[in-house]
Amino acid sequence: FTGKTGSELLTEKLKKFKVHEYQALPVVVQEDVSAYDAICTMFLEDVGTLFVINEQSLLVGVLSRKDLLRASIGNQDLTSVPVHIIMTRMPNVSICTKDDLLLDAAQKLIEKQIDGLPVVKPVENGMEVIGRLTKTSVTKALVELATDQHL
Ligand code: ADP
Repeated sequence: FTGKTGSELLTEKLKKFKVHEYQALPVVVQEDVSAYDAICTMFLEDVGTLFVINEQSLLVGVLSRKDLLRASIGNQDLTSVPVHIIMTRMPNVSICTKDDLLLDAAQKLIEKQIDGLPVVKPVENGMEVIGRLTKTSVTKALVELATDQHL
């Protein structure tokens, strides 16, 4: 018997969770695709956040539902607005890496009031997107913790 309370044990486990254990596959679009096509991709892929990459497959921005709604309110033709005009661009994109603690990533989601973070891998001249860490990822960890699959 360790003398630890149930909640101490839970906290200990929670603090060891890593991003790579809960990350999902990223859905990316090229920076020159139209807002219209981005909306279609969001529906087809069933995600709320798209990661925007350049020709070298490096992360250049993030596109959320709200960005697309904002663009839709204006009277512009969505087929002729490229996503790089309406996305949140680097260096203002919050990121995480696969070896980060899940709790640290969750903290970023709360602090920045966003739904997801790209999981990135640094490469020579930027960052490649290798995953997607969302509120759903964090919810999965919570449920797993409660149902003890981590024991
Ligand atoms: P939604 O638009 O569905 O509410 P978010 O709350 O995640 O989704 O997005 C709100 C704003 O934050 C958008 O302008 C979006 O571009 C931006 N955003 C989303 N994810 C990130 C991120 N990882 N880093 C920086 N900005 C982000």
